[in-house]
Amino acid sequence: DSFDQMGLHENLLRGIYAYGFEKPSAIQQKGIVPFTKGLDVIQQAQSGTGKTATFCAGVLNNLDFNQQECQGLVLAPTRELAQQIEKVMRALGDYLQVKCHACVGGTSVREDARILGAGVHVVVGTPGRVYDMLRRRCLRADFIKMFVLDEADEMLSRGFKDQIYDIFQLLPPKLQVGVFSATLPPEALEITRKFMNKPVRILV
Ligand code: AMP
Repeated sequence: DSFDQMGLHENLLRGIYAYGFEKPSAIQQKGIVPFTKGLDVIQQAQSGTGKTATFCAGVLNNLDFNQQECQGLVLAPTRELAQQIEKVMRALGDYLQVKCHACVGGTSVREDARILGAGVHVVVGTPGRVYDMLRRRCLRADFIKMFVLDEADEMLSRGFKDQIYDIFQLLPPKLQVGVFSATLPPEALEITRKFMNKPVRILV
């Protein structure tokens, strides 16, 4: 029960420890390794369990830093949550020199386009703005290989279903998907069936 035993990149481990984490939480123990192995993972967990670092570590570990292209896309239900996740991603990835951007509504579209144009590895955002950036081709989908839905049940109850499906349609067919949700109502299960391939299901 240590981050050291997960086979993570050394500079990711440095970032995790520098952030102040000593030992993985239960969800981190169960969920990080399957994601780094490339599996689709459904994780049923409440906030407060350490789920953010679970998918941030998973995504960061699988990035190819020789490519200055967006490879990971994380969707969250609110602007605040997306910005909070982006900060964690950036902090854990500090020694990897990861470039992240929070793509959320209520901010300048032009500024988003500029930052995305300069090249980022990971985008964390809310469905509306992310779809807008993809549609305008400010965010290129060609190299996205990881897609994470955080608080999927909450996104669905906020009416983001169509936008999530629209985004998924624009992503490459070979895609690793992580779904995090406190509950799995029928619409969330439908997402797991349509987007995922033999997902591992982890309950914390
Ligand atoms: P989350 O469920 O991702 O919102 O995380 C809840 C809180 O737990 C946040 O304040 C995290 O910084 C903290 N946390 C997550 N993982 C760990 C860990 N392994 N050790 C200590 N604190 C953690």
